[in-house]
Amino acid sequence: MHKQVIIIGAGLAGLSAAKKLKEQNTPFVLLEATERIGGKIDSITHENGHYFELGPQFINDDMHAFNQLLSEANIPVAETALDSELIEVDDHSKLDATPIFQKLHAIEEDSLSEDVPLQTLYEEFITNEQDRRILESYFCEILNIHPSQASTIASFESSKRYISEQNDLLLQGAKPFKELTHYLASLFQEELLTNHPVIAIHKVNDGYEVHTKKQVFYVQAVIIAVPPTIASQIQFSESLNTHFMPALQSYVNGAIIKITWLYPRKFWQDKQPLHGVIYTSVPGVSVVDSSKKQEDARLTMFIGAGTAQEFANLDATTRLQKATALLERYFGKIAHGYTDVQESVWVNHPYYGGGYSAKVKFGGLIDAPEILRTPHENVVFASSELALKFPNFMEGAIQAGYTAVDELKLKK
Ligand SMILES: Cc1cc2nc3c(=O)[nH]c(=O)nc-3n(C[C@H](O)[C@H](O)[C@H](O)COP(=O)(O)OP(=O)(O)OC[C@H]3O[C@@H](n4cnc5c(N)ncnc54)[C@H](O)[C@@H]3O)c2cc1C
Repeated sequence: MHKQVIIIGAGLAGLSAAKKLKEQNTPFVLLEATERIGGKIDSITHENGHYFELGPQFINDDMHAFNQLLSEANIPVAETALDSELIEVDDHSKLDATPIFQKLHAIEEDSLSEDVPLQTLYEEFITNEQDRRILESYFCEILNIHPSQASTIASFESSKRYISEQNDLLLQGAKPFKELTHYLASLFQEELLTNHPVIAIHKVNDGYEVHTKKQVFYVQAVIIAVPPTIASQIQFSESLNTHFMPALQSYVNGAIIKITWLYPRKFWQDKQPLHGVIYTSVPGVSVVDSSKKQEDARLTMFIGAGTAQEFANLDATTRLQKATALLERYFGKIAHGYTDVQESVWVNHPYYGGGYSAKVKFGGLIDAPEILRTPHENVVFASSELALKFPNFMEGAIQAGYTAVDELKLKK
């Protein structure tokens, strides 16, 4: 089969690249490893009509490309029930954690002459043990890896690309995000092939042979829209391997588990105007009020890094019991009075990796994102991790998909 471009991966990055190629009338094929499109975007609706986002859920107004796609797909946005009065506390002191994050931001403005693990950096500046525990827990959740593993320079570089003053939890979809990925796929049904995991890419004459488990495709250019840790499993011909593999291997998978409980009322506002809790006794666990304004009362727990790895090894019933016991530890017995619950485990998946996204590890190449988003020959990478704006977010996935198409030099 001869097509001009192959896109590997039908997550939001691959779907966005496909949309752009379709608009330019460039012939392409989109190959997805699994039977489902959307990658980390997935939603489930229970028999009672309540739906839950298993993966990404939150956006804000500055995420323009995502908001634009929502409006094209006819999916309205809803406001999260955030309020400027609401605070995030740690489970131990029950005090507002904001001053610790302010201290952290003050450090971020200092420039570093050489890379260190993120934990080494903040432990140099923050001496209070409880503050350190809050930061450890915070980073295990937000990065999905332990801060001792993370490159400080790469983490700073990535957070600089979050081009917004707004909270990233500000808005949600008023309908499941799965509808967005289905809308996108409806634009290029003929070009999309599911159950086609790519295993090898070989340079031939003036193009590439792309091998899936079922078929070989000959193309002029390749967009690899899969997380870097997963792309490192693909077999590349020598020049591609030499150029890209060190950058791909600079990444490490994250790990995240998300659990959302639905309650008859917001009991967590009874004592103080609470938005969330950071657990310091169990690093990587935090809980936020994920309710939409004027809608159900919901709490969502994110369990990251090592604690996610541990919880992933439990059966679902035990996992829920342990997670609800953590809620009880902070909120009391009322935490058991939920009317519905949904979990999702994003740990060591063969095609999505794990966590919100993969991260550059300490010791990896700091410029790995730059190397991967810059075409070599006619191959380029395009996952959310590599985005120039909002990396690791859905907005970043769209930006990465669009940039990859713009950067490729396609023969007319
Ligand atoms: C629990 C959770 C919560 C999150 N919350 C938010 C949030 O609130 N807001 C936000 O903006 N972002 C959030 N994110 C991050 C967001 O989901 C990602 O940034 C984004 O969806 C990544 O899209 P992607 O296309 O780069 O990668 P992916 O979604 O990982 O897609 C990669 C695709 O490539 C396919 N693939 C992999 N290997 C191959 C192969 N060899 N051959 C063919 N296909 C292959 C995979 O099957 C997959 O479909 C969250 C993520 C998770 C897991």
